[in-house]
Amino acid sequence: MTRKEFVQICGILGVGLPIQAAFGSCTKEDPILRASDNVIIIGAGAAGLSAAYLLNQKGINVQILEATSHYGGRMIRTTDFADFPIPLGAEWLHVERDVFDEIVNDPSIKVDVNTTPYDPNVDFGLFEGRRVSVADIGFTIDQKFVNATWFDFFEQYVTPFVTDKISYNQIVNSIDYSGEQVVIKTTNGEFSANRVIVTVPVKMLQNGAITFIPELPSDKQNAINKVRVWDGCKAFIEFSERFYPTFIGFDITPETDGQKLYYDAAYGQNTTKNILGLFAVGTGTLPYVNLSNTELIDYMLTELDDLFDGKASANYVKHLFQNWNEAPFANGAYVVDHEDWRRVRTLGESVGNQLFFAGDAYTTGEDWSSVHTAVRSAKRVVDALIG
Ligand SMILES: Cc1cc2nc3c(=O)[nH]c(=O)nc-3n(C[C@H](O)[C@H](O)[C@H](O)COP(=O)(O)OP(=O)(O)OC[C@H]3O[C@@H](n4cnc5c(N)ncnc54)[C@H](O)[C@@H]3O)c2cc1C
Repeated sequence: MTRKEFVQICGILGVGLPIQAAFGSCTKEDPILRASDNVIIIGAGAAGLSAAYLLNQKGINVQILEATSHYGGRMIRTTDFADFPIPLGAEWLHVERDVFDEIVNDPSIKVDVNTTPYDPNVDFGLFEGRRVSVADIGFTIDQKFVNATWFDFFEQYVTPFVTDKISYNQIVNSIDYSGEQVVIKTTNGEFSANRVIVTVPVKMLQNGAITFIPELPSDKQNAINKVRVWDGCKAFIEFSERFYPTFIGFDITPETDGQKLYYDAAYGQNTTKNILGLFAVGTGTLPYVNLSNTELIDYMLTELDDLFDGKASANYVKHLFQNWNEAPFANGAYVVDHEDWRRVRTLGESVGNQLFFAGDAYTTGEDWSSVHTAVRSAKRVVDALIG
């Protein structure tokens, strides 16, 4: 959830946000990458793939070390549940569509991705049982991908250029930047590079998954320790009939502690399936994440039955659950720092001219926690590297 999205979602909740006085870019002196230098990127999510893609465009020798056996990170999707791809993490485009061209960064490539906004004249939501507009729920410029996802966009336009740069099953556990070369140890070997871009979720750093030698500067480490990361989960339920509106919102108190929203996951798709999604973050996840699979579906059907007169149980077909807290290389959803945007900016700063940070939590402090912020932070780091 980005700051902007938080503002939107909380439109209905009337939550204020810290005022951000100035959003300057990194104040560090820009290091220049030498032609012979190599760059290692840790993580093959939106930020890692984008950084590799941009560096590759410039002819830089780049390699990605990815802990899992696949790319995508928190953009993963499944094609097994319905006749359209189901995004288990990132789902909506939160900014204008020209971000696609920004990511591709090549005017000769025409991006052909179908997205759809919501129609304020037709679509509506329920919030705590009363009818509200889509804007009230917080969706204004946000768009759904049509029979595609963020993952599919990357799969088509970004990843083909960098697949041969990705080494899978490389769980990075230490980064030694004490010498001229940065030495990276993984569960499978040792690598060295002139510059390293770390893109792992900040929760992994909070959990001490990577040891830095020497330790990170205290302001950086403090920002890592203090930044707030929300828990997160999503569910998808297929029903034989559609009995629900576009959104079903719930009150979370205090509002800064979480969000919970059911939504029409089949909205705008070319499908006859009726799929309702559940998006829950922060304390919004509490009812769901500790239940067995049977308890979980019973809980969700009961809360929907209460709102829709038993129609949920009567029309239930199947469901799917994604608990991001248990995802071994995410351990949560995303950063939500309502207290101090400067903390996010500190997360985004480089350490010397060897260690760089890109990803949804490592931004300039203007916006965070979404795919477009992850890719923009990657662009910022690449710009700094190439000078
Ligand atoms: C439930 C949920 C809903 C969301 N909805 C939206 C949305 O609608 N729209 C939107 O724009 N964004 C959304 N987001 C946020 C979006 O998914 C993220 O902001 C974005 O995908 C982050 O990209 P990233 O590259 O920074 O990190 P990640 O995608 O997390 O990539 C990091 C990579 O690092 C790897 N890694 C981790 N540890 C190690 C290690 N030790 N060694 C090597 N590799 C490692 C991981 O496996 C992963 O591939 C959502 C996220 C969640 C969880």
